[in-house]
Amino acid sequence: MLLTYGLKPVPFNHEMLSLTGLPRSSKKTVTVIGGGVAGMSAACALAEAGLRVQLLERRGYLGGRASSYLHPGVGEVIDNCQHVLFGCCTNLIGFYRRIGVADRIHWTSEMTMIEPGGRRSRLGPFELGPVRLPAPLHGAPSFLSAKAFSFKDKLALGRAMRAMMRVTSRLGEADDPAESLGDWLRRHKQTDGAMNRFWRLVIASALNAEIDEIAVPYAAKVIRELFLNSAQAGSMGMSTVPLSGLYAGVTSFLEERGGSVHLNAHVEGAAWDGAQWTVRTRTGELASDFVVVALPFEAAAQLLPHLPQVEGAAELAGKISRHQHWPICSVHLWFDREITELEHAVLLDREIHWMYNQSRLQTGRGGHYIELVVSATRAFAALPREQAIRQAVAELAEFFPRVKDAKLEKVALVKEVRATFGVPPGIDAARPTAVSPWPNLFLAGDWTATGWPSTMESAARSGHLAAEAVCASLGEAKAFLDAHLRPRGLMRLLA
Ligand SMILES: Cc1cc2nc3c(=O)[nH]c(=O)nc-3n(C[C@H](O)[C@H](O)[C@H](O)COP(=O)(O)OP(=O)(O)OC[C@H]3O[C@@H](n4cnc5c(N)ncnc54)[C@H](O)[C@@H]3O)c2cc1C
Repeated sequence: MLLTYGLKPVPFNHEMLSLTGLPRSSKKTVTVIGGGVAGMSAACALAEAGLRVQLLERRGYLGGRASSYLHPGVGEVIDNCQHVLFGCCTNLIGFYRRIGVADRIHWTSEMTMIEPGGRRSRLGPFELGPVRLPAPLHGAPSFLSAKAFSFKDKLALGRAMRAMMRVTSRLGEADDPAESLGDWLRRHKQTDGAMNRFWRLVIASALNAEIDEIAVPYAAKVIRELFLNSAQAGSMGMSTVPLSGLYAGVTSFLEERGGSVHLNAHVEGAAWDGAQWTVRTRTGELASDFVVVALPFEAAAQLLPHLPQVEGAAELAGKISRHQHWPICSVHLWFDREITELEHAVLLDREIHWMYNQSRLQTGRGGHYIELVVSATRAFAALPREQAIRQAVAELAEFFPRVKDAKLEKVALVKEVRATFGVPPGIDAARPTAVSPWPNLFLAGDWTATGWPSTMESAARSGHLAAEAVCASLGEAKAFLDAHLRPRGLMRLLA
C-alpha cells in the first residue's frame, strides 16, 4: 500500500498505521526518515529483520540524490546525474541484491581516456586468454602503454602509487593528518601531466573536490580500491535503467513484510514520550518504537532543533556545521546521429570530465543521448545556462568531431549544487556514528561515519550500520554490513 500525500492533506490509512499509541501489530515499528539510498537500505534490512518499517520521503519519489525524474523541458526521464559504482561497493550491491535489481547493473573493466583531438588511451586489467597479472600489477601494462601520460608522468605516478600504498588504510591516520592531497602530491613531486590528467581528473572527481581540500587517506582509499586491490574491486558499474527504476521494488519489498512507503511526507519534528516516538510530518503523525534519521547533513541540521532537547545534541549540531557541499553538473544532449561508439570516456584537459553514451548504456533508450558530467567545479556550476551548454558542446566536439555535423535536438542542464560533502583533512571527527544522543533514534546518511567518501556505497553502508544498531538495541544482534572485497594477488601480502 503506497500512501502518496498530495498538496492537500490526505488522511492516513488507519488500517496500516497507528497515529498514536501502540502499533497495531506486535511487531516493533521503525520510522525511517529519508528515502535516499541510506534510508532505503536501512528500511529494507530492518524489514528483513522482522520490523514493521514506515519509510518517509519528502519528495514524490524515492532515490534522493541518486534518482531519476521526467524532465519537463525535454520530455525525457533522466537521472539527476550519471551515477557509477565499483566492484568494491559491496553494501550498495548487497542492497541491490536484497531488492532484486543487481542484474540491472552493467559492468565494465575498461576506461578510455581521450585527449582533445581524439587520441585515445585505454586503461584496464591485462588479460591475454587465460593469462592475467596478479594485483596490483593487473593494470600496469595498459597504464605503461597509455599515450595520455609521458614517461615522466608515469614515473611520477608509479612513485606516488607506491607511497599511497603505505598510507594507512585507517582513515584519519595519515602521516600528517592535516596535510591535504594537494600538498602530499607536491611533496611527491608529481608532474603537470600526472596532476591534471590523473589526480585532478580521476581522483579528485571521484571524491568530487579540489585536491587541496581532500584528505590523503580518502585519496589512498580510492587508489587502492579502484586501481590496486583487484580487477574486480575496480570494475565500474552503471545502471541499465533510469536510477528510480532500480528502486521500484522497494515499496513492494517493504509492503510484503508489513511495512509502507509514504511519499510527499516532509518530516518537521519528532517527540519522545519515554516509550515511543511520534514523528510529525506536514500532514500527520506516526508513532513508532524506533526512528532512523537518514537525511543529508543539511536536512539533519534543520531537523535537530525540532527533536527533544538532550545532552549531546549541541555537539552533534557542531559536527554537522563542519560539513560543506560540493557541486556536480550534468549536461544531457540529444543529437540526430551517433557521435561515438564508446559507452563512456574520460575527457582530458577540459571542463567536461566524463562522457556517458546513455543510448548505449540504458536498455531501450533509443535515440542518440549523450550525458556529460562536470565534477567539483564551482566555476562551471556558476555559469549561466546557455553559456554552460555552449561550452560543453564546443568541448565535446574537440573529442568527437562528428559533433560538428550533428544537429543538437534538445538539451537539459542539471546543476546539483549540494551534490556531495567534502572530505578535507580532519573531517572524520565530524562524522557521527549511527548511535545518536536520543533514545531509540539512529543516524544514517552518506556523511555519517562509514569510512567512505560521499557515495552511494557510503549511504548503503550507513543504512546497514543503522539497521544493525536498531537490532542491537532490541537485544537481537544482526549483521547487515556486507563484507569488504578482499585484496587479491600480491595485494594480499600488503594488506
Ligand atoms: C550529481 C550527483 C552525482 C553523483 N555521482 C555519484 C556517483 O557517480 N557515484 C556515487 O556512488 N555517488 C554519487 N553521488 C553521491 C550519491 O548520490 C550520494 O552519496 C547518495 O545518494 C546519498 O544518499 P543518502 O541516502 O545518504 O542521501 P540523499 O540521497 O540525500 O537522501 C536523503 C533523502 O531524504 C529526503 N529528505 C530530506 N529532508 C527530508 C525531510 N525533512 N523529511 C523527509 N524526507 C526528507 C530527501 O528528499 C532525500 O530523498 C552523486 C551525487 C550527485 C548529486
